Amino acid sequence: MERLVLFGATGSIGGSALDVIRKFPERFELAGVSGWGNIPRLAEIIGEFRPKVVCLREENPDFTAGYPDVEFLSGGGGLEDLAALDDADTAIMAIAGTAGLYPSLAAIRSGKRLLTANKESIVCAGDIIMREAAAYGNELIPLDSEHNAVFNLLTRFDPGTVAEITLTASGGPFRDKPVDDSVTLEQVLDHPTWEMGQYITVNSATLMNKGFEVIEAHHLFGMGYDQIKVVIHPQSLVHGMVRGSDGTLYMSASPSDMRIPISLAMFFPETPPETNPKLELPGVSLDFREPDLERFPLLKLAYDAGREGGVMPASLNAANETVVNAFLEGKVRFDKIPELVMKALDGVANVPTPDLETIMETDWRVRVRCGELIGL
Ligand code: NAD
Ligand code: MG
Repeated sequence: MERLVLFGATGSIGGSALDVIRKFPERFELAGVSGWGNIPRLAEIIGEFRPKVVCLREENPDFTAGYPDVEFLSGGGGLEDLAALDDADTAIMAIAGTAGLYPSLAAIRSGKRLLTANKESIVCAGDIIMREAAAYGNELIPLDSEHNAVFNLLTRFDPGTVAEITLTASGGPFRDKPVDDSVTLEQVLDHPTWEMGQYITVNSATLMNKGFEVIEAHHLFGMGYDQIKVVIHPQSLVHGMVRGSDGTLYMSASPSDMRIPISLAMFFPETPPETNPKLELPGVSLDFREPDLERFPLLKLAYDAGREGGVMPASLNAANETVVNAFLEGKVRFDKIPELVMKALDGVANVPTPDLETIMETDWRVRVRCGELIGL
């Protein structure tokens, strides 16, 4: 029996992870969850999975009084305590945003295997996370579909025999449509192939998500930016590719369903005992094309920030999170997002090998500056 702690259980990835746990009750048991503000959903999860420890955003005596057998934690400190729980071997990180950083590190330091969808923590502090995971001898397995595909393909290669990797991008709702000042929130959230949380869905529409994924891949796989390619693939059926040093391209394909990469990660290095939904090829066409960096400048900006390294990726992440949240609140137009993010990065002084404190300090400064720019 494998004991798990699940962070962000009430979200989109969290829900998919719960589906996998529900399907294999003899293999996985939920020791703890964090659910943050969504109390009704958390009540359902506690009722169904009976975790012993639950972390909330803040103390809530009216709610917790109903569960005398559950230990409740709260706030950021609570997330770190949950990550360090002795009673679990594996942490699944499905929190959205930078809030995933400290609990990810706490899980690594407590010796847990970390299965993570939280790209923001790797974008901001990839060097530190990878160094700590290596120092503690932990397995770190990506849940992000593209990275999970590449991760699994790479296990088939000998060191030194990989030429490059490719991440696919659906291209989002504006792949073939112009972006102008009339774009609505509803159009942005109407993703052609994936059902996801709001923040990542907006990032898919600007290709910022793919940019973050390039930086994520750089850290996870130790690849140079020239070796990490992005290709637009509208069907979202091929998720990742690896080109061997002989030139052959290996592709990993499956339906767009996050339960597939999540189950592969949860069973790794074994294979899930039941087949996942399969891609049947007849009638399917697979298209690939070059991304348009002029129409989607945030993808290029991510490559630049990644190559500069230091605090630049964390700055990009902080600026984007601030601007996109303002867009979600109706305070910024969609077509203004790239320009505002670029402006917020102007004048950020890089620090080549920052510690965690410097990263978080920069994150805070960029958010403040960005808020001023937007007039928040
Ligand atoms: P979501 O918005 O659906 O869920 C986010 C979860 O995080 C919720 O449980 C929420 O309660 C929790 N949360 C939010 N703010 C928090 C905070 N400050 N502290 C603690 N918990 C907090 O998001 P999602 O789509 O499930 O994405 C989660 C992560 O997975 C993100 O990093 C995203 O980039 C990544 N990801 C998602 C998908 C997808 O298909 N949804 C695919 C690849 C990667
Ligand atoms: Mg992805």
